[in-house]
Amino acid sequence: MKNLIIKWKCDICNDIVISDSNERHKINWCKCKKTAVDLEKYYRREIGNPIILPFKKEKSKVKGKKLTQKETKEAFAEMKKIADEIIKKEMPLLKKLAKH
Ligand SMILES: [Zn+2]
Repeated sequence: MKNLIIKWKCDICNDIVISDSNERHKINWCKCKKTAVDLEKYYRREIGNPIILPFKKEKSKVKGKKLTQKETKEAFAEMKKIADEIIKKEMPLLKKLAKH
């Protein structure tokens, strides 16, 4: 499972905290220490009443990775070219190995 990042807000002091599942066994507390989130890879423990907010940074990251149809085609063509070159280069060696 990939790394989880959540943004949450304390409903008492309005402090906004970001919790990262990569930080193992770390509880993120808000300023007033009434609310906390312990985010692990497979579970989330909450103390108090954290309000989970949409994490925009992660969304824009996904958007930035998205390729247009033309770019996807070009990327595939490039990958195929590289693969063909590797096959061409390695073929004599593979044939040699197959003989043994
Ligand atoms: Zn608070």
